[in-house]
Amino acid sequence: MTCVVAGVDIGGTKTRVALCAPDLTVVDRLEVPTPAAAGGTAMVGAALDAVGQLLGRGDARLLGVGVGAAGVVDARTGRILVASDSFRDWAGFGVTAAVEAALGVPAFLDNDVNAFLRGEAAAGAVAGERQVLAMTLGTGVGGALWLDGTLYDGPHGAAGEIGHIPGFGGLPCTCGGRGHLETLASGRAIAARYGERTGRDLSAREVADAAAAGDPQARAVYEDAGAAVARAILVTAGLLDVTTVVIGGGVSRSWALLGPSVERALAAEPPVSGHPVRVLPAGLGGDAVAVGAAARARAELTEICEA
Ligand SMILES: [Zn+2]
Repeated sequence: MTCVVAGVDIGGTKTRVALCAPDLTVVDRLEVPTPAAAGGTAMVGAALDAVGQLLGRGDARLLGVGVGAAGVVDARTGRILVASDSFRDWAGFGVTAAVEAALGVPAFLDNDVNAFLRGEAAAGAVAGERQVLAMTLGTGVGGALWLDGTLYDGPHGAAGEIGHIPGFGGLPCTCGGRGHLETLASGRAIAARYGERTGRDLSAREVADAAAAGDPQARAVYEDAGAAVARAILVTAGLLDVTTVVIGGGVSRSWALLGPSVERALAAEPPVSGHPVRVLPAGLGGDAVAVGAAARARAELTEICEA
């Protein structure tokens, strides 16, 4: 019988579960809707049902479960601390306790951006790297740090929260602040900045399509986003000497557009160390958070399976 760890990615609309072999190869995966409006018990219940379905397809033995969830989480106690308004009865919910009670195996909780970085560092674009900044450019902008080969999350679990540092103009941010990176580089911001220039209401992906078709306003919006991402990279490299950056989230799928604008801005202002920073798009696609959550579980588990 083979052994597996399960990685669970609980997002705002979809929950993705991956069963991973001990080397973190994805053995099987399933995506189900997240019942975010039905509360924490229902959300974890949907994830547990998906884990059960996947286990029922084979004869693998489950060793543990890692969960990645949006919002501020307490990775030590396995509780959600702060959740967005779209989740009901989620803040305060004890995720790992519920999973352990249902499945009888150890469970672990991470913030989803930290889990994304764990996944990419364990089995993705930055596998084997020791000093990494991760950025997720999605609806918002998230960040996480991998220092000396391990996740650094800080005393409040908020290290690497690069989306909400100031110095990026004066536009109002979703968090109530101003001039944060997120106001230029999130998917929502790309759509809004394009709308201000043109009066047209397009999604970030549609703005990317317009840029590819030669629309100068769309190109300018992505150029601004890329320059802002590059500035955030340079600040981080200057402080922490990170060598590598991995970028995920929906906006990163337009890498042919975003990547060159980041590289242009980095080339214009190289890091003071004299060592160029490598910038890579995420390698695990939609599996990154689930694989990273599984990687946390595998790292914490004492039981080793030599299948
Ligand atoms: Zn902000």
